[in-house]
Order: sequence, then C-alpha cells, then structure tokens
Amino acid sequence: MDRYDVTIIGGGPTGLFAAFYAGLRGMKTEIIDALPQLGGQLTALYPEKYIYDVAGFPKVLSKDLAQNLIDQALQYNPTVHLGDKITDMRIQEDENPAEGMPSKYFELDTEDGSTHETYSIVLTIGIGAFAPRKLNLEDAGKFEGKGVDYFVKEKSKFKNKRLLIVGGGDSAVDWGLHLHEIADSITLIHRRDRFRAHEDSVKQLFESPVTIKIPYEVKAIYGNATVEEVTIFNNKTKEEEKLEVDHILLNLGFVANIGKIKEWGLNIVKNDIEVTSKMETNVPGIYAAGDIATYPGKLKLIATGFGEAATAVNNAKTYIDPSAKAFPGHSSDMEPPPGSK
Ligand SMILES: Cc1cc2nc3c(=O)[nH]c(=O)nc-3n(C[C@H](O)[C@H](O)[C@H](O)COP(=O)(O)OP(=O)(O)OC[C@H]3O[C@@H](n4cnc5c(N)ncnc54)[C@H](O)[C@@H]3O)c2cc1C
Repeated sequence: MDRYDVTIIGGGPTGLFAAFYAGLRGMKTEIIDALPQLGGQLTALYPEKYIYDVAGFPKVLSKDLAQNLIDQALQYNPTVHLGDKITDMRIQEDENPAEGMPSKYFELDTEDGSTHETYSIVLTIGIGAFAPRKLNLEDAGKFEGKGVDYFVKEKSKFKNKRLLIVGGGDSAVDWGLHLHEIADSITLIHRRDRFRAHEDSVKQLFESPVTIKIPYEVKAIYGNATVEEVTIFNNKTKEEEKLEVDHILLNLGFVANIGKIKEWGLNIVKNDIEVTSKMETNVPGIYAAGDIATYPGKLKLIATGFGEAATAVNNAKTYIDPSAKAFPGHSSDMEPPPGSK
C-alpha cells in the first residue's frame, strides 16, 4: 500500500490549496473527498454565484475559482480519491521505519471500505460531509435527476424551462433571482409566511417576475420519464393548485456533520477543531485548516482558509522531517510546477 507524506481530507478551496503547497514541498500527497467532485462548497452549493472577497479577484464566479484551484493543486499530481468519506483513524507504530521517516503513521478507513496510510493528516473538512435536506415525499425521490434537483451545477439546464423552486432561505431566493432571466417561468413556494433569506434579496424577489406563493408546499409530482406537473397546496387554506413544470429545484438547506472524526480524540469546540497558530490539533501529526479549524478571532472565509492551508502543510512538513524549515521559500524563486502551463 502507498503511504503518503500527507493526506488531505476535504477537497474544498482550503484542501485544494493545501494540496498545491504539499506538492511544492515535495510531499507525496493524497486528497480524499466525500463528494464526487473537487471544490467543496464552491462547486456543490453555489457554483454560479459571484464571489467578491478573494484576494486578487475583484469578482470571480465560484465554479471558476474552484476550477483554478483544482488546476493549481493538480500540477504536482497528487492522488485524488473522490466519492468516499473518511470514517476511522488509527495510529500505528512502524517497526522498521524508512530512513528519516517517523516511526508512527496513520491508517484511515473510508465508508466504502478502503484503507489509506499516511504520515500526516490535514483536515480541511469544512462543515463536514454534507447532503441536501430532502422533501418528505416519495414522488420527489422517484424524480431525482429526472427533473428534481437539489443543487444548480449549470444554469443553462433551466434555459427556457418552467421551474418550481421550493424553499425560503438564501439559496432558494438567490436562484429565483439568478434564473428568472433565462427560465421560461419561475414559481417559488415556501411553507412559511416569512422568508429566512437576506431581507434585501427578498425585496428584489418580490420586485422580479418570479411568481411567489406562500405558505405553500408540494403535495404530488407527476410525469412519465421526467417531471411534467406538480400539485401544490396552501397549508393554511388547504387550497390546491396544479402547475405544469419541467424542473423542481428543492432548496431546503443541507445537513452536514463531521461524523466519526468527532471520535478521533481531537479537541472539538462547538463542532470545530481547535488548532494552534501552527494549525496543529492536539494529536501530533494531525493538522486542521479552513472552516473546520478554530482559534480565537477565527473568520470562516475562503481567504483565511488559504493562509491556514499554507501554514498547516508547511508545519506538517517539519513534523515529518524535523530538519526541514517551515518557511517554504518564495515560489517565484522556484522551478515551475511540473504541470505548469
Ligand atoms: C451560499 C454560500 C456563499 C458563500 N459565499 C462566500 C463568499 O462570498 N466569500 C467567502 O469567503 N466565503 C463564502 N462562503 C463560505 C465558503 O464557501 C467557505 O468558507 C469555504 O468553502 C470553506 O472551505 P473549506 O475548504 O474549508 O471547506 P468546504 O468548502 O466545506 O470543503 C470541505 C470538503 O470536505 C469534504 N469532507 C467533509 N467531511 C469529509 C469526510 N469525512 N471525508 C471526506 N471528505 C469530507 C466535503 O465533502 C467538502 O468537499 C459561502 C458559503 C455559502 C454556502
């Protein structure tokens, strides 16, 4: 089995930048993510939104930032293991350690049953492995991928389509605002009288061509191969209505949790992992960075995750090789990465 110098758990923006730095430091690197694609929240939750607070980008589309991070990270050819969640960790003693390598290493188990060996771990698991909150309706499950969606990967999918959006939070309202120009029509329903979304966005939504129905819920979904029609009902008056739609976007939020990583013996403070200024956790050899890492004054932003990723990986380097310096030098003084275009 390959034993890695560093295994980065979580391929969101922080994990991707950590993978780049690990490559720059000549570390044998693996990235593991529970999702089927890299990019973390950027690709899974808001690929079509603009981000305005990443240094060097006055404005960048979330999915474009993710792609740039992926391109940058893959230049050193790390191993990428996707669609599989890390569950257990064991610390093992190597009776015959390779020269100059630590005698301890970690074994990591995944949900799919594979085991991965590594000398150090950088946890960049964000808010944990996440899954969309589902509608409690059998029909919705039947039409998943056949007109029922939880995330928007490509806006073009809804071009000239009749769309029903369900939800009252920021995602539902933002998608109403982002998609009404390309969709044929949009109806947005929410089961409560008040929206949870940002006040300003709700105001814009009411001024937009989106048809808003509150307090409404989905009763049934009909169609042959794909969604064709839906029955919605007013949960106060019980009045029902049929709508012809091509797509249903369920923006009911998502559930995320760090799962069995909670049982690894790490210091956890309110679901976050406590770290030092070197991004070390209380378990030697395990580092954390990005949304999951906490310390006094922490800001959960993409920008902070980048700096923390560099700190975590460079300190992991000195953990494996105490003769190495934490400071990596300036990349501008180095050879270009092997995959550099
Ligand atoms: C709608 C929205 C808009 C936002 N806008 C901005 C913005 O404008 N500016 C800004 O700075 N921030 C913004 N954020 C926050 C930003 O996206 C996060 O701070 C950032 O994604 C954190 O990056 P991360 O790499 O630490 O974690 P994540 O992006 O959450 O990535 C973590 C990855 O770890 C994986 N993972 C978790 N547990 C496991 C496991 N056990 N095994 C394997 N893989 C696992 C997950 O699948 C995920 O891919 C926004 C967030 C949302 C939801």
